[in-house]
Amino acid sequence: MRCPTCNQDQDKVIDSRSIKNGSGIRRRRECMKCHFRFTTYEYLQPQFQVVKRSGDKELFNEDKMVAGITAACKNRPINDLTIKVIVQEIEDQIFAESFIAQTKQIGELILSKLKELDNVSYMRFASVYKGFNDLEDFNKELSNL
Ligand SMILES: [Zn+2]
Repeated sequence: MRCPTCNQDQDKVIDSRSIKNGSGIRRRRECMKCHFRFTTYEYLQPQFQVVKRSGDKELFNEDKMVAGITAACKNRPINDLTIKVIVQEIEDQIFAESFIAQTKQIGELILSKLKELDNVSYMRFASVYKGFNDLEDFNKELSNL
């Protein structure tokens, strides 16, 4: 599995557990080169879904989440690696129990992470988050900052 940080494809599995009543396996992996820890999930059909405020569902898109957080942290002392860790932790939290999550739930988790890290990033994200309809909307707004 390619490391999301350094792109090497050598890693070791440090933890492996059955999830969702045995329908999936969650693996914690550590990159042999840079020691970044990341999580992979194995399912018959790996389709995480997000329910938007409108009630529409869409496939979870990690890139969108990274883009949203990156925009909130622009010119702040938060590096890409920290953002990757945040995204990874949030994915772990929201998809540990279910294949589906609400955008609201994801937004709140992002806010709680940013609050611990940096007030400015938190405020930026919060101000956009209040008015967003989906991840795409707030990414658009953030890019205008
Ligand atoms: Zn690595």
